[in-house]
Formats: sequence, C-alpha cells, structure tokens
Amino acid sequence: MPGIRLDIVTAERMVYSDDVDMVVAPGSEGQLGILPHHTPLMTALLPGELRIKRGGEELLLAITGGFLEVRPDKVVILADAAERAEEIDVSRAEAARKRAQERLTQQRELGIDGARAEASLRRSLARLKVAEMARRRKARR
Ligand code: ATP
Repeated sequence: MPGIRLDIVTAERMVYSDDVDMVVAPGSEGQLGILPHHTPLMTALLPGELRIKRGGEELLLAITGGFLEVRPDKVVILADAAERAEEIDVSRAEAARKRAQERLTQQRELGIDGARAEASLRRSLARLKVAEMARRRKARR
C-alpha cells in the first residue's frame, strides 16, 4: 500500500493526486526525497525533474518551480507549471530554449540583466531534460 498522499496543483489544473511511496523533488536547497512520515516542512522548488515512485514504477514530471509542503496527512506541491514527461512538447521547449538563449546573448551585449531570459531558459532546459530522460527510459525497455 503506497504510504503518502501527493497532490500536485498549478493555478490551471490538478496535475496529480494519488497515494505514492516516495517523491523526489528539486528543492531550493538540493534534491529532496520525501518518504512516509517525513517531518512537516515547506520549501521552494527550482525548475527540474520530479520523480514519483509508486508500486515499483517511477513517474517523471518536469516542474518549473513552486513550493512543496509536507503536512502531517499529505504532501502538497504548488507548482508554477508541471507536466508529465509524455505531455511535454519537445519542439515548443526547444523553441523556448533557443529564444531565451538568443535574448541572453543580446542582453549581455547591451549590458542588461537577463533574469527573465535566464528563468525561461531554466524552464525549457528542465522540460528538455525530462523529455530526454523519458525517451531513454522507453528505449531501454
Ligand atoms: P513558452 O515560452 O513555450 O510558453 P514557458 O516556459 O514560458 O514556455 P510556462 O509559463 O512555464 O511556459 O507555462 C505555460 C503553460 O504552458 C503551462 O500550462 C505549461 O504546463 C505549458 N507548457 C509550457 N511549455 C510546455 C511544453 N514544452 N510542453 C507542454 N506544456 C508546456
């Protein structure tokens, strides 16, 4: 019986809601593994990959940031955006990556701080990484 209720929500939708064995998230202080009976905590999340272990299977998602809260009864992830690996549109993420990199080059030339382009780049790289991890995993099967 999986031991933790996990809810992943964004402003747009409920991305995931089920009982799981473990969740590994990109915490702002490093990778964070949450098992049942973890002490309550609240942490910010960075763009990266989110792994959900459930009954011997591992589900991969891309997350672009947000917050994770461990409550006594469940784990809640309030995500800026989150997509399951199979939902990721690789060409869209690739286009976003290219656009962000071009903006960063232009901004650096003009001496402008490219924080927004940096953030966009990190989101696109998280999506591309997760899509690639899922592709490799599928090829191994
Ligand atoms: P883009 O510039 O392509 O819009 P973005 O990083 O600015 O990318 P977000 O603001 O993070 O996009 O997300 C907006 C919405 O679009 C969210 O619902 C997110 O899940 C979805 N989304 C963004 N990029 C992708 C993608 N490559 N594949 C699937 N869904 C995506």
